[in-house]
Amino acid sequence: MPTRYDCDRDALAELLAGEPRYRVDQVWDGLHRQLAAPSELTTLPKALRARLEDELPPALTPVAESRDRRGTTVKWLYALPDGARVETVLMHYRDRSTVCVSSQAGCAMGCGFCATGQAGFERHLTTGEIVEQVVRAARRARDDGRRLGNVVFMGMGEPLANLDRVWAAVERIHHDLGVSARRITISTVGLVPGIRRLAAAGLPVNLAVSLHAANDALRDELVPINRRYPLSVLMSACADHLRATGRRLSFEWALIDGTNDRASDARELAELARGLPLPAHVNLIPLNPTPGFGTPGSPPARVERFHGWLRDLGVNATVRRNRGVEIDAACGQLAARVPAPGRRPVEVSARAR
Ligand code: SAH
Ligand code: SF4
Repeated sequence: MPTRYDCDRDALAELLAGEPRYRVDQVWDGLHRQLAAPSELTTLPKALRARLEDELPPALTPVAESRDRRGTTVKWLYALPDGARVETVLMHYRDRSTVCVSSQAGCAMGCGFCATGQAGFERHLTTGEIVEQVVRAARRARDDGRRLGNVVFMGMGEPLANLDRVWAAVERIHHDLGVSARRITISTVGLVPGIRRLAAAGLPVNLAVSLHAANDALRDELVPINRRYPLSVLMSACADHLRATGRRLSFEWALIDGTNDRASDARELAELARGLPLPAHVNLIPLNPTPGFGTPGSPPARVERFHGWLRDLGVNATVRRNRGVEIDAACGQLAARVPAPGRRPVEVSARAR
């Protein structure tokens, strides 16, 4: 039995065989446009609603919901049907919201500074498990008086290691949920074959590359996959992606104290950013703390200094605020563990379900 959003149109048509033909559109739009559960589709006969609730169960069961004090960041911990766990983060801005979705339970890439990498790989998420994260977040954004404006694949997992399912989810999010590909960002640690496939895929999603180091010696250490796809190969794939899609590329740079926040790092980074057909935008993220990595993030003064060097070198950079740190929802902190009681504002509320 497929879960609610793993059921594609054909499977839904099969499920609705014997019903009037227009039911397929009605149910599909209800699930995707109205973000509704079958039981809420009051245009359907009661018995059919009940049958669909039964035969199209949701894939995600909320286990915990954490909110920061100001209520602008919400993190959900979900259990999947086989017991695997993932997290989703919703960030509210003034009138729009952004959801950060997971593409895998765990991650096999082994970046030492990342809580997901520290935990290792469990399994790929299905298309429906990805889409349902977006649907649930879009619903909450709507309840909170906002519109879900952006989807970023920056949660748990490496999206390009699960590209078939991720891409099917992107198509569904674009065509059926109505979040345009231009507002979808896929973040990758630098899987070159995946970047090349994205370039040819047809929908102009944004690409973010988690660089963190701009010379191979340091990047080999911080991001082990660099040994397979070194910087020269990675940059040439980035350039091709840029030429094929016309979408701006961004580099993610987690600033690690004394490690990649020196003047020489800024110079090397500037060279790579300016070496592309369109200069890359750099997102600076002071490294967030995780249990398995000893070196702290760069303190604010070093972050500012690094930002200044980049500016002087003609590189556009933004410092990302540490959203969600107090609930372990910030970049690299997703570990899919139930939060320690009392330590953080935690709630497993009826609303989450
Ligand atoms: N696997 C993908 C997407 C998920 S990680 C990738 O690596 O791009 C999302 C972002 O968080 C990446 O840029 C990643 O490098 C960054 N990140 C990981 N651990 C972090 C940490 N402890 N502090 C700040 N950013 C971190
Ligand atoms: Fe995986 Fe990205 Fe974390 Fe690296 S930073 S371990 S690729 S989730």
